[in-house]
Amino acid sequence: MIRPPGFAGAAFGTKASGDLRSSPVRRAAAADELGIPADWAFVHQVHGTKVVEAIAPGQLGDADAIVVARSGIPIAVATADCVPVVIEAATAVAVVHAGWRGAVAGVVTAALDYMIAGGHEPRRAAIGPAIGPCCYEVGPEVAAQFPGHEAQTKWGSTSVDIPGYIERQLAGLSVWRSNECTYSSERLYSWRRNGTKRRQVAVAWLPTV
Ligand SMILES: [Zn+2]
Repeated sequence: MIRPPGFAGAAFGTKASGDLRSSPVRRAAAADELGIPADWAFVHQVHGTKVVEAIAPGQLGDADAIVVARSGIPIAVATADCVPVVIEAATAVAVVHAGWRGAVAGVVTAALDYMIAGGHEPRRAAIGPAIGPCCYEVGPEVAAQFPGHEAQTKWGSTSVDIPGYIERQLAGLSVWRSNECTYSSERLYSWRRNGTKRRQVAVAWLPTV
């Protein structure tokens, strides 16, 4: 798994970790590697802006961001081109699933606001592997929603830089960015590349103090 340096509880899975939503065996192996419990909290991702707080592991319903303020409950989102984001505070951590729709709708800001409202001041964030501006071809109607973040694919068509757009929304925090493109990297799942139903899972947790 990819461990962003300096983070207390954050890891981004790859193909090598397997789809950690659907395989309890693979999840147990990843949990063992990370030194965390094997029961994680997930959500049914709907490209919206709802934030849920985990007080127990399991399926927490329709949402695209999870916050946890207690240790022992890893929280996770699954992606294959969309952007996984971990946001750390001293007393809580959030994990966010942001495709272009969720990013525009403000799911990252919603997670930040939720943390701040709960007295958990965000201090650093990690943007995991996602489809990059090198490959994220979009039509003009999508590009128009990302002013300042339009780009070009390797093959010269219009694209947008969703991780860059999200990084801007994290202004003021210390941000680590993977910059690894899911579409380009054979070690990552990419729905755009081959229509896979498999997902890499980003997991975050509040360490035991
Ligand atoms: Zn790419």
